[in-house]
Amino acid sequence: MATHTTKMLIIGSGPAGYSAAIYAARAMLEPIVVQGLQPGGQLTITTDVENYPGFRDVVQGPWLMEEMRAQAEHVGTRMIWDTIVTVDLENGSPFRAIGDSGDEYIADCLVICTGAQAKWLGVPGEMALGGKGVSACATCDGFFYRGKKVAVIGGGNTAVEEALYLTNHSDNVTLIHRRDSLRAEKILQERLFANPKITVLWNKAVDSFEAGENGMLHHLALTDTVTGEASTLETDGAFVAIGHAPATELFKGKLPMDESGYLLNEPGTPKTAIPGVFAAGDVTDHVYRQAVTAAGMGCMAALDAERYLAARQHAVQEAEAAE
Ligand code: NDP
Repeated sequence: MATHTTKMLIIGSGPAGYSAAIYAARAMLEPIVVQGLQPGGQLTITTDVENYPGFRDVVQGPWLMEEMRAQAEHVGTRMIWDTIVTVDLENGSPFRAIGDSGDEYIADCLVICTGAQAKWLGVPGEMALGGKGVSACATCDGFFYRGKKVAVIGGGNTAVEEALYLTNHSDNVTLIHRRDSLRAEKILQERLFANPKITVLWNKAVDSFEAGENGMLHHLALTDTVTGEASTLETDGAFVAIGHAPATELFKGKLPMDESGYLLNEPGTPKTAIPGVFAAGDVTDHVYRQAVTAAGMGCMAALDAERYLAARQHAVQEAEAAE
């Protein structure tokens, strides 16, 4: 068991964490990134990425994250494969965290980039057909279904927004919801019902995602939640949009969060309620949830953290001079 002391501890290794690390390392802050259970984050479980700027051709999610990690290391970040299991924020900076390995981390400032996970239905075929017709992000993958049939599962804001978004690519969008009324805001519902490209299947639960002979998604097996009747829906793409879960268990009771568990920052900034603690990426963003927005927030967090550390050092120097 070791103690690691650093000016900046970055918890989490998605686009937010790696971008914060790149900026912090180049500001000579010698950051440590504790990578967590899924180094590279959500993009490591996607395949084609076509919307991250800088690449003319499709790139693979795991490759992109590996490049970000390598870049962060190249400019001076220390990567540690550990998972933070407790943090002590009560006593202010320096903050103390303990890893699953038993290692201790002492940091002048903290950048939380633990991300969020899409919720899945947990039914047969869902994971096996990931990237082969099943996705949890229409903004990311909708483009691949131009002119094809797509389905969206869920009845909240995300599902309705994804269905509406998909009409940019497809004239045949089906929204599948397990009840007979939507949870989404009324204005979104109105837009949904007014859109001739969208059909709503009410009271339907998805039992499984079934592949065709080519190994790609072919149809969904459905059960009517009222009558129990079984049916199928042929579709080329299915987008599971039943919510996301931010990884904030560690910070419960320590930092303000909304009812879904997203960290609440000072609006428009990566600053949390505790000076010296910053949050960036999907852990604090339930609206945009994109690799590029997370990366942007990671950059903002590193810049604000740098300013925080500089102001703190300045205050110490002034106090010393006054003695
Ligand atoms: P929500 O929790 O609001 O909705 C989840 C939907 O998925 C519900 O309709 C729920 O059904 C359904 N669902 C959940 N589990 C299952 C399951 N196992 N099988 C079938 N259906 C299931 O999640 P959202 O991601 O839509 O929204 C999360 C938060 O983010 C909300 O506060 C939302 O308002 C906000 N948001 C805001 C946006 C904006 O302002 N533009 C955009 C997107 C999200 P049921 O209704 O039966 O429970």
